[in-house]
Amino acid sequence: MPIAPAALAKLESTVRGQVLTPGQPQFDAAREIWNLLHDRQPALVVRCTGHADVATAVRFARERDLEIAVKGGGHHAAGHASCDGGLLLDLSLMRGIHVDPERQTAIAQGGCTWAGFDHETQEFGLACTGPIVSMTGLPGFLLGGGFGWLQRKLGLGCDHLVGADLVDAEGRYVRASDTENPELLWGLRGAGWNFGVVTSMELKLNRVGPEVLAGLVYFPIERFAELCRFHCAVIDDAPAELTTWLILRLAPNVPAIPESFHGRPVCAIAFCHCGEKIDAEHWADRIREGVAERFGDSIIWRRYEEWQRALDGRWGNGFYNDWRSFYFDELQPKCIDVIRKYLMRLDSPYTDIKIPHMGGAVAREPEGGAAFANRHRRYCLVIQARSSDQKESAKHLQWAKDLQSELQPFSAGGAYVNFLAPDESSRMRSAYGEDGYRRLVALKTRMDPGNVFHLNPNIAPDRNA
Ligand SMILES: Cc1cc2nc3c(=O)[nH]c(=O)nc-3n(C[C@H](O)[C@H](O)[C@H](O)COP(=O)(O)OP(=O)(O)OC[C@H]3O[C@@H](n4cnc5c(N)ncnc54)[C@H](O)[C@@H]3O)c2cc1C
Repeated sequence: MPIAPAALAKLESTVRGQVLTPGQPQFDAAREIWNLLHDRQPALVVRCTGHADVATAVRFARERDLEIAVKGGGHHAAGHASCDGGLLLDLSLMRGIHVDPERQTAIAQGGCTWAGFDHETQEFGLACTGPIVSMTGLPGFLLGGGFGWLQRKLGLGCDHLVGADLVDAEGRYVRASDTENPELLWGLRGAGWNFGVVTSMELKLNRVGPEVLAGLVYFPIERFAELCRFHCAVIDDAPAELTTWLILRLAPNVPAIPESFHGRPVCAIAFCHCGEKIDAEHWADRIREGVAERFGDSIIWRRYEEWQRALDGRWGNGFYNDWRSFYFDELQPKCIDVIRKYLMRLDSPYTDIKIPHMGGAVAREPEGGAAFANRHRRYCLVIQARSSDQKESAKHLQWAKDLQSELQPFSAGGAYVNFLAPDESSRMRSAYGEDGYRRLVALKTRMDPGNVFHLNPNIAPDRNA
């Protein structure tokens, strides 16, 4: 049912942010999300400036039974951050960040991106685990888990969350911390999109950098099996200061890579050491010498903030994406063969496969625990199919699905909600384990019995409770 003009006018006069409807100049920019595959048309967008706007907009939507979508950074590849016909809460005006250098904490509003957050925290030589790019949203990343360059030293992104302010399904204020609603704080650490709109997050920070030793070293695809063996035998025992991600893709046409490799399947090890100089250089040398035929070595000392931005160029808006993932405890020879086979067939220069190395602090639960499960796995593997052409996107999506199903027999199970595809809701239990899932259902049933916040990897409430 169309929203009455008088109701819209009242909403406009109540919020400090913008109320946008289709046809208004900024409407399309406000509704756009990172993945072009999900082109949604909400009935209205409220660009909130803070907690009060969010609460007003949630109450407005509830009174009219409008579906609610919440857009943090809008970067989830499954396109959860928008809706057709409902009310989209765009949090992109809520990017305030306050760092307390004494307590080593930061408070970030619910629409921050990592570029802004790292910029503010690094001013004080502080950071927490963010993703391996800077432009994505802080809320989605943190509330869903969070793998990044600092994970083996500092833990997952969600492990840094020590407090949060929310607007619940009735538009009311709720606080989560270790003393107020500790169960909610537990749930926010890994399943946090299900209980309300998080308007601000308090994060524990650590000393990082300002320089880290970081970069990529490329190898021909023929060396992939050797690289995996080396990784298992040597890097597994590396100190927690070192986090590596294996990356497979077609080599980009960049000056750092010899022309003879451009467009050919290659594998790389992405390296970030946030510790002492001697140790960092020792491990960089081990990687350089560990596998033959390396090329395109870009490991150098650089500011952490700069390294966070180093991969941004390839990952902007305007592409059609399909992401899916698994955890692995072993990269067995047969599994390596499957990955190689698919890479040889790959014809998108934008697609890649990434394999973050877990262990270290990832395996340690934060005080008070976290809903995030599967932290004891050795690797996560994410297939990131990406194309610039809509007509080609179905082919690339199929490539990703086929690769996923051929890899499944080698996987250790589990699921990571930040990398979950839209057709994978049946994997939600494995993301949290049976006990964790039951606990989340109880929390969801208490917080949001009508499943108002369902545009996410969803924990369905118990309707019989
Ligand atoms: C280029 C790129 C690189 C990435 N790199 C990494 C990486 O290195 N490591 C990693 O772990 N992940 C990575 N991701 C995945 C990323 O962490 C998730 O896509 C994450 O959900 C994005 O956060 P967002 O705020 O942009 O989410 P959105 O797309 O805005 O939202 C995702 C979900 O969170 C909900 N949500 C958003 N904001 C709030 C809020 N304030 N309160 C309550 N719910 C909210 C939304 O409703 C939606 O259900 C990457 C994604 C991209 C596109």
